[in-house]
Amino acid sequence: MIQATLAIIKPDATKRNIVGQILRRAEDQDLAVVAIKRLHLTKKQAAGFYSVHRNKSFFDDLTDFMSEGPIVVVVLRGEGSIRKWRDLMGATDPVKASPGTIRALFGESIERNSTHGSDSPESACFEIGYFFSGLDLVK
Ligand code: UDP
Ligand code: MG
Repeated sequence: MIQATLAIIKPDATKRNIVGQILRRAEDQDLAVVAIKRLHLTKKQAAGFYSVHRNKSFFDDLTDFMSEGPIVVVVLRGEGSIRKWRDLMGATDPVKASPGTIRALFGESIERNSTHGSDSPESACFEIGYFFSGLDLVK
């Protein structure tokens, strides 16, 4: 099924100028960039995005991290894009991520793990809508 997912290049990765290297991995697997922008979130905006995690112990640190510098938010469209992008990223903790995955290659820690990807069609819908309007998605 052709679907869309939200990917984020996190502040640890934008700082190291590896946006292109990361997005190339998506394009190489037939995921198309149909919307993209760079922005610097406030802590409140980061908290709104990650509201499902608001009761977790790591929430305060996570929202500090996600607002410490620029991010690049991207809508990736293609066959099974939600699963495919998460497979390309690898496990949340770079130490546990399979060799060759984005987080294994570039992640600095379980928090500073370089990328985000939606985990379900419902979260993709919320997350894409958090950053983009329908008119921004150009197929
Ligand atoms: N995170 C963290 N500590 C943890 C778990 C997660 O700092 O113990 C951060 C990490 O940046 C992760 C984000 O919170 O990517 C969201 O966590 P989630 O469990 O949704 O992982 P993901 O879906 O990103 O793999
Ligand atoms: Mg998640």
